This record gives sequence, structure tokens and C-alpha cells, in this order.
Amino acid sequence: MTTAPTRTADRSSAELIEAESPVLAHNYHPLPVVIARAEGAWVEDVEGRRYLDMLAGYSALNFGHRHPTLIEAAHRQLDALTLTSRAFHHDRLAGFAEGLAQLTGLDMVLPMNTGAEAVESGIKVARKWAYEVKGVPTDQATIVVASGNFHGRTTTIVSFSDDEDAHAGFGPYTPGFRTVPYNDLAALEAALDDTTAAVLIEPIQGEAGVLIPDDGYLAGVRELTTRAGCLMIADEIQSGLGRTGTTLAVDHERVRPDVVLLGKALGGGIVPVSAVVARREVMSVLGPGQHGSTFGGNPLAAAVGTAVIDLLSTGAFQARAAELGKILHSGLTDLLGHGVTAFRSRGLWAGVDIDPALGTGRTLSERLLREGILVKDTHGSTIRLAPPLTITEDELTSAIETLGRVLA
Ligand code: PLP
Repeated sequence: MTTAPTRTADRSSAELIEAESPVLAHNYHPLPVVIARAEGAWVEDVEGRRYLDMLAGYSALNFGHRHPTLIEAAHRQLDALTLTSRAFHHDRLAGFAEGLAQLTGLDMVLPMNTGAEAVESGIKVARKWAYEVKGVPTDQATIVVASGNFHGRTTTIVSFSDDEDAHAGFGPYTPGFRTVPYNDLAALEAALDDTTAAVLIEPIQGEAGVLIPDDGYLAGVRELTTRAGCLMIADEIQSGLGRTGTTLAVDHERVRPDVVLLGKALGGGIVPVSAVVARREVMSVLGPGQHGSTFGGNPLAAAVGTAVIDLLSTGAFQARAAELGKILHSGLTDLLGHGVTAFRSRGLWAGVDIDPALGTGRTLSERLLREGILVKDTHGSTIRLAPPLTITEDELTSAIETLGRVLA
């Protein structure tokens, strides 16, 4: 006999957490908070406790929770058309693609859903370009990646991850990748040869702890890839769309990659939306039937994505991230030597290394949770701060003060 499921609202946070364990895969280790509602930079748990969200869905919530313009665009689209598949045209896709091409300064858009799918799609495009345009012998194409990378969780992507948790136990691994140290142009140059289809890098390595390469590195990657006749692919899935104070993180060095991968914030915190955006000569290698996705570019995704692009087109969010980023930087500078051993920040994004004597990133995240602040550790004793770009100056200042208090 089956019994009717309990309504979630009838159960406490502790009961809901307890109920998950036997039925939910254990591939995450969430902090002990059960969120039921959210608005702007704030979330509320099932008991009505409020928390300031300083993680913003790993940058998927750059515009905050339920930004009114994005919610309105989604509602409008829900009332008109939600899914067609790409078997037919629909009236929202052209505007989305035109907007994204214009925003990134590139030519053609391949719409997908998740970040990992965008990375996979970028790899496929680069390999096909290598065979058809560069003239690499069949099945010999290589893609150069950086140590410490995080590009997602598919079997091909974890094949070239050097994070043991992400990589171990999932072989046999996809061949065709070479790893060089991040932020090392000499090593990169040595790895490029006639088989190189592309260099795939994060302009700032988010999961690795917000690692910012030296000034000139991205311009150097651009120069080396151009000279070697291979593609530069920038994974801007976490770093892009306003987070660092510019539309793309590569904009800090005025670099235009051949291919840009976007995701996370492109879906406005509402639906998964990702995209490969590329130069025409590169994307043109794809013909009908050679790549696709049932949901990629669906009307709801395109409507929300277009609204996201419109929000970014004024430059106001980028400017706000840059301005508030100065406050974040100066607040963290004050904490150096007071529990913070080092930090790296650009725009509203920071990796903060905590004195290991004070606990791990995990224990600090749990202490901040008790103080009403949501953050998450990356590795060891590093936490990542990535609040919504809509956070107010007072909220940001108070979050930094709370961090200082918890570390004291
Ligand atoms: N690339 C980067 C740089 C990321 O940070 C992530 C996710 O954190 C991904 C790709 C994968 O995105 P998704 O989790 O949507 O597959």
C-alpha cells in the first residue's frame, strides 16, 4: 500500500534533511539549511529564518533571486509557448542569438542548457574545426587545458580534471587532452603543435579558489593561440556576465577569444541556459544533425536569456560589480592577518584563504550560516564569496563585518 507523500511545508528543516539521505544520491554535502523562499540577495528557510546569500548559486544568480524583470519575462513566456524542440523555428530564438552575439562581440551562437554541455559542445566544435579547417589528421586533434581546471562533470570533462574526487573512478578516460600549469605561458607555448585544435581555459579559475592569472596572461594566451593557428576557448560560465566588473572576464585584458562558453547567470537563476558563442568561421563547421539538444534554445530559455542580455546591455550591472568590488576588496584587505591569510578578488568575486588554525572552509561556512550568511568552501580552508550583483552596499559591508567577527 502506498501512502500520500507528506507536504514539505509540514516538515521541519531537520526532518527534511533527515528524509533526503536514504533517497537522494550523496554527490553533494550541502550546508544544513533548507531554503523555501528567496528574493534579491536574501533567502528564507522553512522555519522563516533569513540568510544573506553570498554564494548566489555559484554565480547562476548574478541578478539575485527572482529579479522582477526576469520573472516577468518568464511568466510572459509561460503563457505563450514553452517548448518546440529545434524541429521547428520559434519566435524567441533569433532575438536571443542576435543579443548574445552582440554582447560578446562574436558572430554565432549554439544554444545549450548546462555549463558542462556548453563545454562538451565547444570541444566538439573545436575538434571539427581542427579537421576541416586546420587540416589536423583524423582523430589526432588535441586540446590543451590548464591544471586546476573545473569545466564540469561529464565523462570527457572529468577525463582532463586533476581533481581526484572529480576524476578517480570514472575511467576509461577520453583521450586528446594535454594539461599545462595554469598561468604559465612558456609551458603553454611548449604544448602547442600541429595537432592542437584549441586551448581551453577559465580566465579566472573559480572552483580552484578564484585564482586570477598574472596581468598579460590572457593576452599571452591569445597571442600564442593565434600564432600556433589554434583556437582560444574561454570558459566564462562562472566568470562571465558581469561577475568581475566587466561583461566577460577576458574584457579586463581586451582579449577576444575565438569561442566563449557561457552558462549559469545566462538562465537568470530561473532555467538552465548555456551557449557556445564563436566566430563564424569556427561555428560554421556544424551542419544539420551533427550536434543538438532537445531543450537547447527552447522558448522559455530564450525569453529568459534575452531578458538577461537586456539587463547586461546597459553596463549598469558590470559597473555595480566593479564599484562594490572595491568595497569587498578593501574589507578583505582589513581582515588580512585577522583570520584571513590571503585572498584574491575581482569585481564581486573573491576566494578567501582562512588561517587553517581557525578551522576548515567547511566549518567556517557552518559558523557563518549560524550568523545568517550563506557561503561555501571551495578547497581546504578557502571560501568563495560571490554575492548577487544586486546586493546593497550596506548588505555587503555587514556580511564582511560578520566574517570578521566570526574569524575574531
Ligand atoms: N565551467 C565552469 C568554469 C564552471 O564553474 C562550471 C560549474 O561550476 C561548469 C563549467 C559546469 O557548469 P554546470 O554545473 O552548469 O554543468
